[in-house]
Amino acid sequence: MELALSAEDAAFREEVRAFLKDRLPPEIAAKAGSGFRLSKDDHVRWQQILFEKGWMAPGWPVELGGTGWTAMQKHIFDEECALAGAPMVIPFGVTMVAPVIMAFGSQEQKDRYLPRILRSDDWWCQGYSEPGSGSDLASLRTKAVRDGDHYVVTGQKTWTTLAQHADMMFTLVRTDDSGKQQEGITFLLIDMKSPGITVQPITTIDGSAEINNVFLDDVRVPVANRVGEEGKGWTYAKYLLGHERTSIAAVGRSKAQLRKLKAIARAEASGNGTLIDDPDFALRLAQIEIDLLALESLVLRALYAETAGKPPGPEASFLKIKGTEVQQGLTELLVEAVGPYAAPFQPEAFRQDNWNEEPVGPDYAPALAPLYFNWRKASIYGGSNEIQKNIIAKTVLGL
Ligand SMILES: Cc1cc2nc3c(=O)[nH]c(=O)nc-3n(C[C@H](O)[C@H](O)[C@H](O)COP(=O)(O)OP(=O)(O)OC[C@H]3O[C@@H](n4cnc5c(N)ncnc54)[C@H](O)[C@@H]3O)c2cc1C
Repeated sequence: MELALSAEDAAFREEVRAFLKDRLPPEIAAKAGSGFRLSKDDHVRWQQILFEKGWMAPGWPVELGGTGWTAMQKHIFDEECALAGAPMVIPFGVTMVAPVIMAFGSQEQKDRYLPRILRSDDWWCQGYSEPGSGSDLASLRTKAVRDGDHYVVTGQKTWTTLAQHADMMFTLVRTDDSGKQQEGITFLLIDMKSPGITVQPITTIDGSAEINNVFLDDVRVPVANRVGEEGKGWTYAKYLLGHERTSIAAVGRSKAQLRKLKAIARAEASGNGTLIDDPDFALRLAQIEIDLLALESLVLRALYAETAGKPPGPEASFLKIKGTEVQQGLTELLVEAVGPYAAPFQPEAFRQDNWNEEPVGPDYAPALAPLYFNWRKASIYGGSNEIQKNIIAKTVLGL
């Protein structure tokens, strides 16, 4: 959508574009923009560039290192970063655990962790889900038993994204199983170098290693690493999930994918013309663009509400569902657009040291099938889309 920008916002867009042109490393943009996997170093390097500019945490209060941007400026920034091929900022620290620490953490936790998150000194992961406790998260069984100034934690977390890189994990543990499930849950910050932690990779259907099992075996966690009160972790967890679902909508990234899809559809032959001239393909492309425009309006509404001090409510569930449907729809059309070139399995094209090896077919093709498979995850993580529909039915429709 070409929103009519005010003169200030138009100038801001130019400022962001100039910064990206000047500071986004071209080799990182080339990798990210064409769908190839980024290393931890790539992510940290980009995040540190953002930090130096003061743009690492647009959503934070200014006194803690935020930018003070308006909702529209945040939106413009996200969009321009995605269109330039900038890596997404890994959300676990800056947009997930940080708001919880700000709202419920001790002063010591704020002083220690927030500056480290801003500088990307610590890589965080999210230890919520367990085998058997995903949608029904409150049934989690990882146990924390108090022993003096420590909790002793034993159990298993699963699907833990990028835990192989993590220095810290924010996690939900059970400190009491005598009452209602939700009441016995506590929110702990765990140092991933603690003795007793084992990280075991899970290979996903696209061949990547981005999720893990995390086993905790008598891990000693200082009581000082508990956020808020014992047994109140469920309240803090829900607060965090609202933030997670708003950011999952990722309109900027979908706009970048749509632009790529249109370029491919203009390049790929179909009948006597190109794919974009095929009425069936053009219709589906138009439909997804309309959905994306509608989503953009919803995201802006949520951003304005958040800027006005209203934290995300059940509308975050709409954003999660629609955002991920658009993301998945785009990956389906991208695969369809390159036809048989999506079929060859070319894992060598994804090796970190070899990412620009000559592919079979056009250079935009090898990443598209893995991208399609990888994005099946989007309707599952952050609370599955079926669960979001349940939330909407209960809290919005009153069913
Ligand atoms: C790629 C990926 C990354 C992830 N990263 C993380 C992470 O970093 N940290 C973390 O803690 N978790 C993470 N998750 C876990 C994610 O949050 C869970 O997978 C999700 O909540 C679903 O839980 P489950 O896998 O146990 O499935 P289940 O809860 O067993 O659900 C199975 C199916 O049943 C449906 N279903 C379940 N209950 C209901 C119901 N009441 N009504 C209607 N349908 C229902 C679900 O929608 C789903 O389709 C990740 C998941 C994926 C796929």
